[in-house]
Amino acid sequence: MPGLYVHIPFCRAKCGYCDFASAPGTKAETDRFLEALALEAARYRGLAGSFTTLYVGGGTPSLLSSAQLKKLLSVVETLTGPLAGLAESTFEANPESLNRTKAGLLKKAGISRISLGLQAAQDALLKRLGRLAMSGDFLRAYKDLRAAGFADINADLMCGLPGQTVKDFKDSLAWLTELGPEHVSFYALEVHEGTPFAAAGVKEAPDLAADMYEAGAAALEAAGYTQYEISNFAKPGREARHNLNYWEQGAYLGLGPAAASYLAGERRANTPDRAKYVRTALAGSEIPLQYRETLTGRAKKAERLMLGLRKVSGIELPDDIFIEFKEELGRLFAAGLLEKSGGLVRIKKDRLYVSNAVFREFV
Ligand code: SF4
Repeated sequence: MPGLYVHIPFCRAKCGYCDFASAPGTKAETDRFLEALALEAARYRGLAGSFTTLYVGGGTPSLLSSAQLKKLLSVVETLTGPLAGLAESTFEANPESLNRTKAGLLKKAGISRISLGLQAAQDALLKRLGRLAMSGDFLRAYKDLRAAGFADINADLMCGLPGQTVKDFKDSLAWLTELGPEHVSFYALEVHEGTPFAAAGVKEAPDLAADMYEAGAAALEAAGYTQYEISNFAKPGREARHNLNYWEQGAYLGLGPAAASYLAGERRANTPDRAKYVRTALAGSEIPLQYRETLTGRAKKAERLMLGLRKVSGIELPDDIFIEFKEELGRLFAAGLLEKSGGLVRIKKDRLYVSNAVFREFV
């Protein structure tokens, strides 16, 4: 059964490293976007009732006003039915735009899980990233979420940041695990063209990020979290079901600018251009696509393999995939990057950080 992703393309300000489809917007622009989203959702009425998970991401979905949040969730429910009936519904938030009222509204609406952006516990680092919320804001928002009754919270962190030390990263994890969110994700900084970081000449630090990755994974495991994907750690039973569906090559529908879908074997993504998205949807036209492709043969098998290998548990290799990639798999086993366990093939845990070297073999 498919997952539903909804992209909210608004942020109060752009972070220095961000290349997601998001930008500041006025109240009127946000209202028009929600109208456009309702029209896009109406095109998929045929899928209503078939979704099991929801993920509202962005951008900063919590930037919406209470009235806009209600409108958004009513649009979503035309496809999902009552949110409380879903297996999981995640809503992304940033501390600077989340308050008690919004936390209560989301809980009451049936949202089951919140993903809250932290990135680092050191305010100097957060300022360097261009983040608006400092660690004290995160703490306040986190408490508001708990007070509203949320029992499933993810926090995002970053490693390999300019000026960040391994100790900083370990301190961030210690600070966070003391709070005890059910789920933690962390990502190494990537410097993308067109971002303020790229313009300022900020460089990625892969060796340092690798040290942090190793230290971070060990610290989280010691604190009772289990790593189940390259960047994701969860307390028992708290793995993100919506994301697991991606890694299992399950179907999903994406709504909003830049949102990707995988339906009936076809992969496609909406235009990332917010103005164009809103204009075409309001005109009743098809949303322009950034790409559309149907994976077949070797490409489809490669994708299945790469997605499955993202999971720490690995992937059961059907004969057709094994035969197609026999040589590549042989090389990776010989290099000590892959191992077999209980009928599954997986990347060795201490090699997960170099997973890109594994994936390169299949493209
Ligand atoms: S809050 Fe997230 S989506 Fe918004 S600018 Fe920062 S990194 Fe990008």
